[in-house]
Amino acid sequence: MSLLHVQGLGKSFGGNRAVDDISFSLAPGELLALIGPNGAGKSTTFNMLNGQLQPDSGSITLDGHSLVGRKPREVWQMGVSRTFQIAETFSSLTVAENVQMALLSDDARLFAVWRRATLYRRADALALLAQVGLVEQADRPCSELAYGDVKRLELAIAMANQPRLLLMDEPTAGMAPSERNKLMALTRELVTQRGMAVLFTEHSMDVVFGFADRIIVLARGRLIAEGQAQEIRDHPKVQEVYFGSGKTFERKEPA
Ligand code: ADP
Ligand code: MG
Repeated sequence: MSLLHVQGLGKSFGGNRAVDDISFSLAPGELLALIGPNGAGKSTTFNMLNGQLQPDSGSITLDGHSLVGRKPREVWQMGVSRTFQIAETFSSLTVAENVQMALLSDDARLFAVWRRATLYRRADALALLAQVGLVEQADRPCSELAYGDVKRLELAIAMANQPRLLLMDEPTAGMAPSERNKLMALTRELVTQRGMAVLFTEHSMDVVFGFADRIIVLARGRLIAEGQAQEIRDHPKVQEVYFGSGKTFERKEPA
C-alpha cells in the first residue's frame, strides 16, 4: 500500500546527529509535510531520499526497491523527482525550452544536441505547461516570469519524468501567502490527477495545516510527532519545540 518506506534512517556530520533513527512511510496520492525548526534535519532527510547523501544507517525503499547506495540519477530514473531552483544559465531560454530541456535529459540525450533540438518534444512540454497553467507564457524568456510563475515552471520541470514521488524542499520560500496557497493547490491537483506522492517542507503553518494530508515533525534529528493537522496543532511536544511551553499554533503568523 505504501510507496515509500523509511526505516531507522540516520546521518551524522562529525559528532552532530543530523537525522537520528527516523521511520515513516508515504502512500501514492498522499501529500505529506515534513516540518520542524531550522536545523531539525529536514534537508538532510531529503538529500538522503534522492541519493545526494548516503545514510549512515537505516533503509529507504520505493515499492520494495532499496534506494540506499544509488546515485541521484538512478533514484530519479526510479521515479523520484525533486523541485530545483531554475539555474541562472537557463533563464535566457523560453519557458517551453526549459521544460524541453528536462524532457531531453529524461530521454538521456546529450546537452550538446540541444541547439539543434528546439522543437524536441515541444508538444509534451506544452502539455506539462498546461497542467501548471503556464501554456500562454510558453514562448516568453524565463527571465521575464513573475516569481510565482517561476515556481510553477519548476514544478512542471520536476514532473517531466512522471515521478511517483516528488520531493519539494521549501517550494514556497520567498512567496507571498496568496501565491503559496496557489502553488500548493496546484500541487494538490497534480497529486490527485496522477496518484503521485509528495513530501514537502514548509515554514508557513497555515500552508501546512491547509494542504497536508498528514504531517511528521522533526526536532534535532528525531521524529517527535506524526498525525493530521489537528493532532499536530494540539501536540504538546510540537508546541514546545516551536514556541516553548504555554503558546500554541492558534497565534497568527506576522504577515
Ligand atoms: P533543516 O533543513 O531542517 O533546517 P538540515 O538538514 O539542513 O536542517 O541540518 C540538520 C543539521 O545538520 C544542522 O545541525 C546542520 O548544521 C547540519 N548539517 C547539514 N548539512 C551539513 C553538512 N553538509 N555538513 C555538516 N553539517 C551539516
Ligand atoms: Mg532545510
